[in-house]
Amino acid sequence: MPTTKRDYYEVLGVPRSATADEIKKAYRKLAVKFHPDKNPGDKSAEEKFKELGEAYDVLSNDEKRAAYDRFGHAAFGSGAGGAGGPFAGRTTVDPFDIFREVFNGGGFGSRSGGSSIFDEILGGASSSRTSRSTQGEGADLRYDLQITFEEAVRGCKKQITVRKLEVCDACHGSGAEPGSKKITCPTCHGSGQIRASVGGFITMMQTCPRCHGTGQIIEKPCAKCGGTGRVERTKTLPINIPAGVDDGTRLRVAREGEAGFQGGEPGDLYVVLHVEDHPIFQRQDRDLFCEVPIPFTTAALGGEVDVPTLDGPATVKVPAGTQTGKILRLRGRGVPSLRGGQPGDLNVRVLIEVPSKLSPEQRKALEHFASLNDKDSYPQRKSFFEKARAFFTKQ
Ligand SMILES: [Zn+2]
Ligand SMILES: [Zn+2]
Repeated sequence: MPTTKRDYYEVLGVPRSATADEIKKAYRKLAVKFHPDKNPGDKSAEEKFKELGEAYDVLSNDEKRAAYDRFGHAAFGSGAGGAGGPFAGRTTVDPFDIFREVFNGGGFGSRSGGSSIFDEILGGASSSRTSRSTQGEGADLRYDLQITFEEAVRGCKKQITVRKLEVCDACHGSGAEPGSKKITCPTCHGSGQIRASVGGFITMMQTCPRCHGTGQIIEKPCAKCGGTGRVERTKTLPINIPAGVDDGTRLRVAREGEAGFQGGEPGDLYVVLHVEDHPIFQRQDRDLFCEVPIPFTTAALGGEVDVPTLDGPATVKVPAGTQTGKILRLRGRGVPSLRGGQPGDLNVRVLIEVPSKLSPEQRKALEHFASLNDKDSYPQRKSFFEKARAFFTKQ
C-alpha cells in the first residue's frame, strides 16, 4: 500500500514538457528494466514496474494527462488497482469522475447545483467540428513476452494472462444501471464537443470530457462499474506466434486492449517479443551463423564434417585447402520468412584446430611433412611477409 505517490513525471524521469514520444521512449526503457520476468522475486522491481505502468497509463493519454496536470493524483482517486499481473496498478477509477464532481457542484468553490462550469464559461457550444474517432475508445495495451530462440524460429503457441479493463457484464458496457436510460449531455448539449478557452483569447473545440463526445450521459450509473461500462478483470489469451519472429517483433491482437468507455471501441493488445540467446547459433534477420571447429587435416585434405542445424546434424563437404574463417553456406537452413518468402541460410564459419597433443607416431609423420615444406603452399603467409618486408624497408 503506497503511502505517498510519486509524481508521474518523476516516475518516468521526463520533464513536464515532455512530448508523447519522449514519454513512450522513457516508459519502454524503464519497463524493460523493471519487468518482473527480468527480476524474479524482486518486490521493489515489481513495485516500480507497477508504478511505471500507472504513470504511463495516465501520461500517454492526452485527456488523462491534462486532468493529471490540473488536479494531480486527485484526478484518479486514491488507490491503485489490484495486485499481480502485468497491468496491475492501472487505475480502475475513471479520471472523468473528477469532472463529474466538479461540474455537479462538489469540488471547486462556490459553484453549486447542476450547472456546468463549461456551460457558464462557454455558452452554447458549436457542433460543427472534427472527427469523433477517439470518443470513448479503450487504450491499447502492451505485453512483453519472453520466448526461446527455437520458439521464435519455429513458431509456437503461448497463453498469456492479462489484467485489464473488460466490458462490464452487469450493464454490457453501457454504464447505465439496468432499467435507466441515457439523457442528452448538459455540458455540450448533445454535440459531443465543447469550446475551451486557451489563455483567455483563443478558443478551441475539444471533445466533451463529460460524455466523451457521445453527446449523451447516463441517468443512473451502473453500480458495478460506476458508470464507466468497464471493470478490471484477468483474462487468459492464446497467442499464436508465427515461425520467423525476431527479438522486438510486435504481434497485434485486435480488440484485446482495454474495453472502451461506456461501450466504446476496445483498444488493441500488442505483444512485444523478447527472444533469448542460443548457445550455438546467432541470428541476423533470416540468416543463422555458427562456428564449427574442424581438424586441420580435414581442412588441408578436404573431406566431410558434421555441423549442427536447427533440425539436427547435417553433413557438409569441406574442400581441400579450407582456411580458418571460411564460411560454409547451407542454403535454406536458416530461419523461415515471416512473410512467406525464402528461408534464410545457415552460415558455418570454420575454425581450424590443431591437435593439442601428438602420439610419437603422429609427431614423426608431421616432422616428415614439415621437411617437405613448400613455401608456395601457404599463400596467406607469403603475402603477409611480403607486406611486412615492404613496411620495414620504408622505415
Ligand atoms: Zn456496468
Ligand atoms: Zn457532452
